[in-house]
Amino acid sequence: METKLVKAADSVLDEAANILKRGGIAAIPTETVYGLAANAYDVEAVRSVFRAKGRPQDNPLILHIGSTEMLYDIAESVSPLALRLAESFWPGPLTMIFPRKPHVPAETCGGLGTAAVRMPNNAFTLKLIERCGFPVAAPSANTSGLPSPTSAAHVMADMNGKIPLIIDGGECRFGVESTVICFEGDDAVRILRPGAVTPEMLREYAHVAVDSGVLEKIDPGARVLSPGMKYKHYSPNAEVYILKGDTGSVSRFLKNERMNKTAFLGFGDEDIPDDVTVFPYGSTAGEQAENLFASLRAADAAGCAVVYVRMPETSGLGLAVYNRLLRAAAFRTIDTDGGSDAVL
Ligand code: AMP
Ligand code: MG
Repeated sequence: METKLVKAADSVLDEAANILKRGGIAAIPTETVYGLAANAYDVEAVRSVFRAKGRPQDNPLILHIGSTEMLYDIAESVSPLALRLAESFWPGPLTMIFPRKPHVPAETCGGLGTAAVRMPNNAFTLKLIERCGFPVAAPSANTSGLPSPTSAAHVMADMNGKIPLIIDGGECRFGVESTVICFEGDDAVRILRPGAVTPEMLREYAHVAVDSGVLEKIDPGARVLSPGMKYKHYSPNAEVYILKGDTGSVSRFLKNERMNKTAFLGFGDEDIPDDVTVFPYGSTAGEQAENLFASLRAADAAGCAVVYVRMPETSGLGLAVYNRLLRAAAFRTIDTDGGSDAVL
């Protein structure tokens, strides 16, 4: 199949909508990462998304909506808290989990009785969903396991020949996937996946628990609230290590421990030996979220064998960066202050 790459514009809305209406797939831009879109109500279309990604069948898809009416077509019930959060954070990077109505296919939801729903904040994609008239199931548009795509070029690298259309909406604003929450009673939420809607922001509206799976390894056989948390994720081919320590000790580590084809993602204040290849990262969680996936992909493209990445903050948006980095690194962490290997 030939994969066409077109710029996001009103002139391509019809073409993209027709592909989705006929049960096909198109890659779409969002403010988080690129998505692989299909009609969420069409079981065959949803199956072809799982195939294109190589995604495990039990890892459910997020349903992207263009209006609050679509939420009521999916969710069996919507609590006053959910409605308040929708009013405050949609369109935006917050995914909420609801009991699903019977007509929402089990295949879309990984066989669960719930559906994950969000309204993305991208003008083209909102128009596209409205034109389709159905919610669009859209996982990240990468091959399952690889770093998520934050540009159309990343999507092309993974999906060329597998899907008919990629809509190029430029670089994603946030660069990490949405925050996923479920509800615990009337006034509490649990964060299953951290994102740009932070625990601190949600605390304005509800009691907030952060699920232990966000920062801890999950046993592959374990029953979890969000199946996506089980899988090794976001990983380039290179081996990724997290460097935990201050600037001085990280600089000393790089001087002593670098090897052939070492890549480094740092805050910008380190001493870096000439033979270490530096990729964009940054000193704020916002910059790190924007750069992490693109730099992991770039390190692979440059043939790097090892990527060292400095440990981000663990509050605010930093929690989302750290959650993705832990999985990219398969939890391998080196304590440069301590001088010895220490796994969290
Ligand atoms: P992605 O499609 O790559 O953005 O990943 C979507 C994430 O949302 C995965 O971690 C899924 O497991 C999670 N998810 C989607 N639907 C549900 C649901 N009904 N219940 C719990 N987690 C969900
Ligand atoms: Mg994904």
